[in-house]
Amino acid sequence: MKGLKLKFLLLLFFVFSSHLDLKAWGFFGHKLINRLAIFSLPKEMFTFYKYHIDFITENAVHADKRRYAVDGEAPKHYIDLDVYGDSAFYHLPKYWDKAVEKYTKDTLCAYGILPWQIQIVKRNLTFAFLNKNVKLILKYSADLGHYLGDAHVPLHTTENYNGQKSNQYGIHGFWESRLPELYSEEYGLYAGKAIYINDTQNQAWGIIKHTNAALDSVLNFEKNLTLIFPEDKKYSFEQRGAVFMKVYSQEFSFAYHQMLGGQVERQMMSAVKEVSSFWFTAWVDAGQPDLSLLLENKNSEFLKELEEEQKREIEKESIPSRPHESYIYNPSGFGKFLCAGH
Ligand SMILES: [Zn+2]
Repeated sequence: MKGLKLKFLLLLFFVFSSHLDLKAWGFFGHKLINRLAIFSLPKEMFTFYKYHIDFITENAVHADKRRYAVDGEAPKHYIDLDVYGDSAFYHLPKYWDKAVEKYTKDTLCAYGILPWQIQIVKRNLTFAFLNKNVKLILKYSADLGHYLGDAHVPLHTTENYNGQKSNQYGIHGFWESRLPELYSEEYGLYAGKAIYINDTQNQAWGIIKHTNAALDSVLNFEKNLTLIFPEDKKYSFEQRGAVFMKVYSQEFSFAYHQMLGGQVERQMMSAVKEVSSFWFTAWVDAGQPDLSLLLENKNSEFLKELEEEQKREIEKESIPSRPHESYIYNPSGFGKFLCAGH
């Protein structure tokens, strides 16, 4: 996958100010992760996913769009581990109900629920496979890819998510958008084959733990470089469309990229592998339904309908508090809006 011409597709480099505005990996990164994950699937799944590659790719960012419209969506994209102290992984129960018991739902929702959200969507996807519901298979596959992508961004695991607490304001976009913008052409993004995951909730935590371990270098390397770079060399202005925008300079970006030693690339590659492995696991857990049968009515109107539904979902006016779809397909009722009402 080397030599991918990614640059021309990357979007503007924005420095945003809140969780609501931050989009892990930028739109382009999320789409790339979902798209590449399809190529790691076994052949029994590949044909189906390949057929729907455009939907899975485009809707890799649907969950971020939903943040503006759906109550309780925002905390699904991150977890501020530092608010739980130095031993957050020791203190935080892995399973949602136990975590609610210990910290209350309000606290969990205030600081983000990403690891539990991954598990919910994985279960929803399993039920979608069980019910052979093509619409929901596509919807939850796209969403699962998104949340797993978020789980690979170190700044999605801290309250200091944009360097606002350490005088490094803008670092979120620097790591996840500016660096891929400049260097993703060099990335090798073939992740290998999808593997079955025995305990997906545990795996979600393992991913977050690994991602969080990279946070120190993300912050400290930038801080150290700032100390040795004159202010006028740290930033520059680049033309984006009709406007000039302040961006991290090429020199500063290159120095940071070098110091990180391939960290962004490794995180992206890991995201690709995990997305395909979670999809695969959901399919296996559902008894490996024959997906070729689901391609029979490929000329039907359902894709158009699904796209319309996705559109309606992000229109504010259309948010009646309707029950989460997973209720319909999940006999245990697992998968309700964890943080609705916040
Ligand atoms: Zn997100």
